[in-house]
Amino acid sequence: MTPPCAAPLLIIYTGGTLGMIDTDQGLAPGPDVEARVRRALAGLPSARLAALPDFLWQELGTPIDSSSARPNDWAALASKIADCHRDVAGIVVLHGTDTLAWTASSLAYQLQGIDRPVVITGAMLPLEADGSDALHNIETALGFAAMPRLQEVALCFDGVLLRGCRARKWHTQDRHAFASPNQGRLGERRGDDWTLIESRGLEATQRGAPRFELPDYAGLEGAVVRLPLWPGINAWQVAAWLDDDRVQGALLEVWGGGNVPDDLAIGQVLAEATGRGKLIAAISQCPYGTVDIGHYAAGRLLAEAGVMSGDDMTAEAAYTKLVHLLAQPISDDQRRRRFMTPLVGERG
Ligand code: ASP
Repeated sequence: MTPPCAAPLLIIYTGGTLGMIDTDQGLAPGPDVEARVRRALAGLPSARLAALPDFLWQELGTPIDSSSARPNDWAALASKIADCHRDVAGIVVLHGTDTLAWTASSLAYQLQGIDRPVVITGAMLPLEADGSDALHNIETALGFAAMPRLQEVALCFDGVLLRGCRARKWHTQDRHAFASPNQGRLGERRGDDWTLIESRGLEATQRGAPRFELPDYAGLEGAVVRLPLWPGINAWQVAAWLDDDRVQGALLEVWGGGNVPDDLAIGQVLAEATGRGKLIAAISQCPYGTVDIGHYAAGRLLAEAGVMSGDDMTAEAAYTKLVHLLAQPISDDQRRRRFMTPLVGERG
């Protein structure tokens, strides 16, 4: 069991399946989620109920299905956390699972150096559904959010605590829905025991002083594109994205350890785009491992075109980092340097 902590926690509810109810049009956000969550927690066995930390409750505007979340929703959530984090011991964010890893990654960049837990969770089934994972996930997230040694944005799901900017939704139905392919878990709950693996935490490695960056992402919606390669891709198809003036950055998803077709015309399109100041990074389509973009001759074209290595980052972490850096009032060189530097444990 986790020891009770003095200051309360804060739950911020944003929407997602967890609070949904059946409607004529299918599952949709339902009313009175705070009361429903408190009622469900009150039904826990007495020892677990006694160990639950106290929590306050806030909602972030109108609850949404997270498939509708946009970069400015990430910014609104980070601002809310920044505004109130000093009054609470830790924060739990209840969020839809579909884009939960995107929000978690973006929060990590916006809340750099946060000195208390921010634990984001959701559920595969609505709170009141038979066999729902919602109550277990909320109880587990509250337990981790009460641990002062956790000082970063983490994602909690099915008893496992992952670094937020390393996690991915991995399953469409299974309650064990999230994985962290290139970074070990930060903690786990077994029965009534919550264990934090402190040596893996940012607090033990690179947290540093709080240095929040809370930009306005509004002008950047759609400014970064995601471009997975496929066999037979042509330079004109890459150009269709990158030549558009509205596009300021791109995440290329290349093959294996950093390969692209040996097509100089594609290299030319990429080089012209980086030459115009567009921020372009490459990660692998393989979920595990890293890219080394100069290793194969076929991948050298990326390095020559000024494409940055995304190392072992998830697509969610690399994409949200590009958006975040483009929103900063810094030079192109500084953006490139910061992309290549681990800011919050997001890359090897
Ligand atoms: N579509 C839902 C959402 O992301 C799925 C979920 O919460 O599991 O909001």
